[in-house]
Amino acid sequence: MHAAVLQEPGQPLAVVEVDDPTPAADEVLLAVEACGICGSDLHVSDVLPAPGLIMGHELCGTVVAVGGQVRSEAPLLGEGVRVAALSLATCGRCIACRTGRVRKCVEAKMIGIERPGGYAELITIPARDVVPLPEGLDHRHGALIEPLAVGIHTVNRAGIAFGDDVLVLGGGPIGVGVAIWLTQAGAREVIVSDPVASRRELAMTVGATGTLDPMREDVATGFAAITGSPPRHVIECVGIPGLLQHAVDVAATDATITVAGVCVSPDQIVPWTFMAKETDVRFSFYYTAHEFNTVIDMINLGRIDPLPLITDEISLDEVPSRFQTLKQPTDHCKVLIRP
Ligand SMILES: [Zn+2]
Ligand SMILES: [Zn+2]
Repeated sequence: MHAAVLQEPGQPLAVVEVDDPTPAADEVLLAVEACGICGSDLHVSDVLPAPGLIMGHELCGTVVAVGGQVRSEAPLLGEGVRVAALSLATCGRCIACRTGRVRKCVEAKMIGIERPGGYAELITIPARDVVPLPEGLDHRHGALIEPLAVGIHTVNRAGIAFGDDVLVLGGGPIGVGVAIWLTQAGAREVIVSDPVASRRELAMTVGATGTLDPMREDVATGFAAITGSPPRHVIECVGIPGLLQHAVDVAATDATITVAGVCVSPDQIVPWTFMAKETDVRFSFYYTAHEFNTVIDMINLGRIDPLPLITDEISLDEVPSRFQTLKQPTDHCKVLIRP
């Protein structure tokens, strides 16, 4: 099969021919229909020493084969069934798995980081870690389930209550997804700060109530002009050095900062600035099985429409060049690969 492979950290990906994967007894083999390019892929590809890694963890596909132990009649994982994949391969036995806290699984392997991902024509995944999609959902919905589940988990971690005003730093796929769920969760004002105009417009399309340009205005002042006071909830969805300090600098006293942006390089903060405001900082990572299923339900019931997040669909051959351009500031939100 063809796959876009990371050869060296910081170098462009290369589309090469690799062996077709074979499903283990408890796995399904999927023909990848769509796989999103994630901001965290862009970040980790610069530092991860993993020659030959196939990245990609936001994927859906159709079942083309099942391992010997997979019961294809139930839960309906026969050939041709379209599924969305959790971005983790889990053990299915530990207490975390049995209670749906998939990221906490003692054997969890991150798909596209610790085992081959979806920038490829085929992928194997444990049958327990894929979910059949309802009829009305297509490949675009399927590839968006994973990042939207990250958004739900982030909002749950942030502890938002009805009537809260929230500042979201970053209008990329995660920030915009968080804005969608904040609206669902009863936030009063959802203000997205991003320097790119098209991203601010997209945020307004899907549920933000206001936007700020951090390059042109003071974010705390701009937020207070809309809501009456600086933010007591800040959700960081960028993941580059300096954003944590920015978050506390613009926050009110007693604020909660929830970090969803994946920053893989060292960052400097001035701890005193957090102490002076008695800021709570909490991090959010992945999602639960329930949150993943909730995304599918909410799309299927028509409660949210995430399709505006998709700004392009590209072939596998276009991945190396597009991957490089997405590392620079861009108008794009979610770009899907169609292997
Ligand atoms: Zn992702
Ligand atoms: Zn487990």
